[in-house]
Amino acid sequence: SGGPDPVPGVRPRAVLDALPRYAAGRPATVVEGLQSFKLSSNENPLTPIPAVLDAIRDCTSINRYPDAVSTRLRERLAEHLDVPADHIVTGGGSLGALNQVLATYAGQNDFGAPDEVVYAWRSFEAYPISVGLSGASSVQVPLLPDGRHDLDAMAEAVTGNTRVILLCTPNNPTGPILTRDEVVSFLARVPNDVVVVLDEAYLEFVRDPDAVDGLGLYREYPNLVLLRTFSKAHGLAGLRVGYTVAQPNITENLRVSAVPFAVSSVGEQAAVTSLDHLDEVLARVDTLVAERERVVAALTDAGWDLPQAEGNFVWLRLGGRCGAFTEAAEQRALAVRRFGDEGVRVSIGEVDANTRFIELCRSFGARGI
Ligand code: PMP
Repeated sequence: SGGPDPVPGVRPRAVLDALPRYAAGRPATVVEGLQSFKLSSNENPLTPIPAVLDAIRDCTSINRYPDAVSTRLRERLAEHLDVPADHIVTGGGSLGALNQVLATYAGQNDFGAPDEVVYAWRSFEAYPISVGLSGASSVQVPLLPDGRHDLDAMAEAVTGNTRVILLCTPNNPTGPILTRDEVVSFLARVPNDVVVVLDEAYLEFVRDPDAVDGLGLYREYPNLVLLRTFSKAHGLAGLRVGYTVAQPNITENLRVSAVPFAVSSVGEQAAVTSLDHLDEVLARVDTLVAERERVVAALTDAGWDLPQAEGNFVWLRLGGRCGAFTEAAEQRALAVRRFGDEGVRVSIGEVDANTRFIELCRSFGARGI
């Protein structure tokens, strides 16, 4: 059915058959007379700050391998986050860093049975793929109707085979955060030999004062791993730079499983420069958050009932109208991300894109939402 012809004798691991295919966000369709906008990948719509572009142009030694352990970047991050540099491990995007955590802590037990990785569903689409590839099996715990994690059910889903739990805050694609109190009581219920990953990809967009910030917690929990990225707030998605923060009992092991040179010299230079200009970066994040608030207010006014939106995206629970909405968006040259008949996720983009999205929601109507 359109797949490659099988080559005799060459077979992928059986686990590949069961993996969902990652569907990257589609580019916007071209509509005569309309600028196209891509609101389908939770990207930062703003082009990199001038200092970062200059720094990239100055990268002259790309004939050499990068620093395999990103020493400069880790030291710069250590200053910013006020943590020791050996509590940080960099990776090829936070997805690369997540794969490292899974490769290190999940797979099969001594008898060849799959370990279990527990996470909320729906959540980031790459989780089932990464978990499947690790050899472990996914235990997906349904979200609450308002798009929040059901932490009680997740704690109950933990068995003697659970090796890793993934928590996503704000949750992609639904948007709500986890509070600090929720995470603290959850951690108290989880055995301390289970690694808990807190995926904070959208941390800089969060404005809820009760939201968890992993940095304030990880020192007390030797099983807690924070996952962070330069792809969203820093707008460096194309360069693939992410990192984990955890205590050395964990980072020592992550260094063993690290893909050597996963962060390129250009990526490292760009990330360091972005941190050098953090005020400018965060001021831009403020404008995106203001846009998010404008979108949420306008949609709420128009009768839409949205879950809490603390990332750079909003989640429309459209059910059976997902297809019609996605089509209507395409007719207006807006690419959005449809998740079956569950919902449509729309990233906060350029001001004009957001305005067009608001108009689309008004005319489409909030019926049944
Ligand atoms: N975690 C979450 C929750 C995400 O939404 C994404 C990107 N969509 C990532 C991790 C991965 O980002 P990156 O690999 O670019 O750091």
